[in-house]
Amino acid sequence: PEDIRVYEFAEALNRPISDIIKVLFDLGMMMTKNDFLGNDEIEILSEEFDVEVTIIDPKDEFTHNEEDIEEDPDATERAPVITIMGHVDHGKTSLLDAIREAKVTDGEAGGITQHIGAYTIEQNGKAITFIDTPGHAAFSHMRQRGTAITDIIVIVVAADDGVKPQTLEVIKLAKESGVPVIVALNKMDKETAQPDMVKGQMAEHGMNPVDWGGDIEFIPVSAKSGMGIDDLLENILITADVLELKANENALAKAVVVESSLEKGRGPVATVIVQNGTLKVGDYVVCGASYGRIKALVNEHGKQIKFLLPSHTAVVAGLNEVPASGEIMMTMSSDKEAKEYALKRHEYDRHKELSHSTKSTLEDMTSMI
Ligand code: GDP
Ligand code: MG
Repeated sequence: PEDIRVYEFAEALNRPISDIIKVLFDLGMMMTKNDFLGNDEIEILSEEFDVEVTIIDPKDEFTHNEEDIEEDPDATERAPVITIMGHVDHGKTSLLDAIREAKVTDGEAGGITQHIGAYTIEQNGKAITFIDTPGHAAFSHMRQRGTAITDIIVIVVAADDGVKPQTLEVIKLAKESGVPVIVALNKMDKETAQPDMVKGQMAEHGMNPVDWGGDIEFIPVSAKSGMGIDDLLENILITADVLELKANENALAKAVVVESSLEKGRGPVATVIVQNGTLKVGDYVVCGASYGRIKALVNEHGKQIKFLLPSHTAVVAGLNEVPASGEIMMTMSSDKEAKEYALKRHEYDRHKELSHSTKSTLEDMTSMI
């Protein structure tokens, strides 16, 4: 909000900067042309000059707007995007690996599969994308943002261990976000597995199994033996069907960063999942405060591809800076436009930082009095 400067406001109103400064001065506000206007000042000024001002948060422009897609007559079915969550050691990584291994298509068999933070498999001719971000510190950050890109959460619970603190965290997150849940009862190959005990614990926390009259599917699986994987994938597709997930392949592309890094030789790279539109090599994009032209799209099999459809994932090269995970990437009509947006975001971020540091300085001072 407070990212408009006095001179920019003057330009927008087509008025001399001195007029703006004078009005502010008369109201007891000493501002120079480079100062940022707060919401209050903007309100006062728009009344004074009799103009209507809509305050646009540059970050809002980049948030995922599902309603837009739902109302788009050109939107067609898209694949579901899944996040697997659960307590440490309950088998998230093993399950993601087991699914990937079970579903590598013939053309890709033998090819080196690279870890890129997300992957897409096919089940009965239908695509499913899994977010595969390891459980390090960055993940909890991603988890919070992750719900924005996640259509279905698979909660993994080890059948021999039951509900644990992180299981409860995930349940809470799922409830808050309203994202549908499927429970994978993992480690069913173990003799010590007690699926009914786990169902009871989950039911106590509002996760009522379908076979107990509730609405949550519990799928017994073993990441070790591969048992139940097909069943889990079938259930994901059924749940996705109900959700009627859609995207418009012809819209300007919008994608989310799930992982990013600076790579030798390739520069800044980001693994993205497309939410809407089609991302193409040669597209001008903005991604947070970074921008660029897409030089290459590389999928999880290390293959260069020309374009990326909704719900699909690839590594993007061509940005000028490493974007943060969770950041939105958008196609722009020109290099100029991409650069402008990126600069706005830079300014916005810097201003945020500045106002934070000013605030803390003031707080430090008052605490010293
Ligand atoms: P994460 O922390 O949730 O990612 O869990 P991991 O996938 O790293 O698994 C933790 C441990 O459980 C590892 O030693 C796995 O080999 C083991 N494990 C995972 N899934 C199964 C399973 O289905 N059966 C058995 N017996 N062990 C499993
Ligand atoms: Mg893991």
